[in-house]
Amino acid sequence: MKVTEHLQQAQGRTLVSFEILPPLKGKGINALWEHLDPLMEYHPSFINVTYHRSETMFKRTAAGTFDKVEVRKRPGTVGICAALQNRYKVDAVAHLICGGFSKQETEDALIDLHFLGIDNVLVLRGDAPKNEAVFEPEPGGNAYAIDLLHQVQRMNDGIYLEEDLKNAVKTDFCIGVAGYPEKHFESPNMRTDLAWLKAKVDAGACYVTTQMFFDNQKYFDFVKACREAGIDVPIIPGLKPLTTRKQLSIIPRTFHVDIPEDLASAVLAAKSDADVERIGTEWLLQQSKDLKAAGVPVLHYYTLGKPRVIADVCKEIA
Ligand code: FAD
Repeated sequence: MKVTEHLQQAQGRTLVSFEILPPLKGKGINALWEHLDPLMEYHPSFINVTYHRSETMFKRTAAGTFDKVEVRKRPGTVGICAALQNRYKVDAVAHLICGGFSKQETEDALIDLHFLGIDNVLVLRGDAPKNEAVFEPEPGGNAYAIDLLHQVQRMNDGIYLEEDLKNAVKTDFCIGVAGYPEKHFESPNMRTDLAWLKAKVDAGACYVTTQMFFDNQKYFDFVKACREAGIDVPIIPGLKPLTTRKQLSIIPRTFHVDIPEDLASAVLAAKSDADVERIGTEWLLQQSKDLKAAGVPVLHYYTLGKPRVIADVCKEIA
């Protein structure tokens, strides 16, 4: 079932959804089930599975020189989506990215997703590899999320890369895109960022899922600005628990979002790691309660290694 159908059926009730990462290459899927099993009693309407490009690594050779190698550390998104739907009878949302993939590889992934009965994709550009400053599209790949969105739309119309295919099957993916309450870090300003977001929605995106934020006002202001810009699809807030002191610097650096002063001061004053986790859990709970009271369509939790915290929050807001 599509995300949009879940939203229609909810009739204004706030749903819950989760986001997970594929395990590191070489690890089994059981760790993922151990992570998700305790969360399933909170009845997520759908579960997103992130997509990852390869990273450039340097390996020492026998001669003492270094060879540049490409390593894809987290493959498996498509398979995990299928396994999730099979195990939990819950809808999966497969993330797809432009970076690191040709259009042909993307088409192959979309064909697999379609064959496996996965109805939902979240289309994204992806970021530059860690040791490269600027995002460069793959030769023969999509440059922006909107280009990837067009590719999915064309398949929904039965148009594949080999345009002479006769009677090609039409896929029917529900397409989501990303939005940034604190602006995408490469955008010169919020107005420009919103213009590109509107272009994605005008091109057929059915909903927006936001980058994480720790100050709900930023989400409310973003929704207002989107509505004023003519973006009228559901805007799903993305939420992440802050549970370690290190995250005070890692989160802003990685995701380009602010940590509110009150939260940062409380974490800095905490006496123990357990204290930090308690503070982060309470903050997330309050954020969730306020967003639910404001009638958001879904509370979308980035679960990333902290299922217990998410479970504690879901228990309280159920
Ligand atoms: P785009 O919409 O393409 O925008 C990228 C930048 O270009 C923005 O500054 C935008 O304003 C601008 N822009 C957009 N269109 C155009 C255009 N046509 N011409 C010129 N400028 C344009 N990354 C992963 O690698 N894997 C994941 O699974 C993943 N999941 C994510 C889930 C969510 C909910 C979010 C919010 C992010 C996720 N990301 C993921 C990170 C994402 O890939 C990065 O934030 C990336 O830098 C931007 O992706 P985008 O889809 O927003 O890009």
